[in-house]
Amino acid sequence: MILIDRQRCARCGGCVDVCPEGALTLAEARLVVGRACTDCGSCLSACPMGALHLGGEEAAPAQPSLRRRYDVIVAGAGPGGSVAAETAARAGLSVLLLEKRQEIGSPVRCAEGVGHEALASLITPDPRWIAAEVTRAEITATAGGTTRTLRAEGGRGYILERRVFDRVLAERAAAAGAEVRVKAAVNGLLIEDGRVRGVRVRRNDVGQGPCEVEVEAHIVIAADGVEGQLGRWAGLTAALPLRDTMVCAQYLLAGIEIDPACTSYFIDYSLAPGGYAWVFPKGEGRANVGLGVQADLWRDVAGPRTVLGFLERFIEERPFLARGYPVTLVAGSVPVALPPAHLVADGFMLVGDAARQVDPLTGGGIINAMAAGRLAARTAAEAIGEGDTSASRLACYAEAWHRERGRKMERNYRLRERFAPPSRADERFLQAFALAVG
Ligand SMILES: Cc1cc2nc3c(=O)[nH]c(=O)nc-3n(C[C@H](O)[C@H](O)[C@H](O)COP(=O)(O)OP(=O)(O)OC[C@H]3O[C@@H](n4cnc5c(N)ncnc54)[C@H](O)[C@@H]3O)c2cc1C
Repeated sequence: MILIDRQRCARCGGCVDVCPEGALTLAEARLVVGRACTDCGSCLSACPMGALHLGGEEAAPAQPSLRRRYDVIVAGAGPGGSVAAETAARAGLSVLLLEKRQEIGSPVRCAEGVGHEALASLITPDPRWIAAEVTRAEITATAGGTTRTLRAEGGRGYILERRVFDRVLAERAAAAGAEVRVKAAVNGLLIEDGRVRGVRVRRNDVGQGPCEVEVEAHIVIAADGVEGQLGRWAGLTAALPLRDTMVCAQYLLAGIEIDPACTSYFIDYSLAPGGYAWVFPKGEGRANVGLGVQADLWRDVAGPRTVLGFLERFIEERPFLARGYPVTLVAGSVPVALPPAHLVADGFMLVGDAARQVDPLTGGGIINAMAAGRLAARTAAEAIGEGDTSASRLACYAEAWHRERGRKMERNYRLRERFAPPSRADERFLQAFALAVG
């Protein structure tokens, strides 16, 4: 009998093709072995993950095991986590970077827009992970029968290919010496006398189902994104209020004709309550076309019953977009909140979306996460060098973050509050928005 190690199976479909009996099928979420299976074993050698074996056979050996202790453990290999891991490894620390997904950078939950200057201050732009370069932005805001359009020229930026970008960042961390593990989810913190001293990791690469290990570190950096739980376990964050959450849907549309160097934003309460719609060109007649709405508002607005419905209406009403066809659907949420009161605890630091380090006006968080990852790791290296990883020693990370970027984020949060969603065709709001999108 063919047995499937579901934790190890990557659902790549490689085995399906080689089965002479057509006994294997790839259902939406899992591989299924049908009755026609004759145990011929052809599929075993076609599986790159070693996830298939004959009943009674030993499973393939697991990935190299983790050490008992590292200087720094980083949870989450998004931009924030990978930059933190790379920076810490370059500072000579032993680093473990843990990612719960099986593929870093995928699925993409992002419109992928970043400004040139901010990006270049962190990493040299590389055509491998740049889908398009943009030089113009057009912001159209409609409220109370008034429409204002602001055109910003010369602001150079990029639409990234995050599937590649995120992976390259993790590879840089590995090249700097960090141990990188995928399919490794942090599912608990080890806390002793109020201090974080490590993590519990659920690894899914072991032949006989998942296993759980405890790994210690001087400092745990939580870069686990908007869905992150580590901040809650450390007592630093709580559930986000709906009003501080932007719920988004996006299609990658192909077959459209748009200005390939211009990003477009549409701010209109009836179109995207409390948020905005965007069209970000990705080259070759493609664009990320998406829309984010404030989670506490959109259900009160007459119209579509889902956020995806808002997006589809936005596309249908614009012939230049309606002509296209969707090749990817992305759904996700963005924290547009003030940061938690504390970004650090004893032996613990929060970075990126997990720390709500997102621009509340635009929802942009890639650059912030990378910048915060770098700042946090530098502080971690100094603190470990001094043998003091207490919250009071780590607090200078929060101070540096506030000085460099946090203050601006807080100002943008207040602006968002001041211009309540229906009044956002105001000139001052538009100017601030244009500044924020770079
Ligand atoms: C629809 C949409 C459009 C967006 N558009 C833009 C944009 O155009 N420009 C921009 O700058 N920003 C944009 N953002 C925001 C941007 O995607 C995030 O701010 C950015 O990815 C934050 O990086 P991060 O490293 O903090 O978190 P993430 O990129 O979310 O990475 C967190 C990682 O942690 C992993 N993880 C979670 N829990 C665990 C665990 N327990 N153990 C191990 N790993 C774990 C996750 O799998 C993930 O890989 C957009 C977001 C959305 C949803």
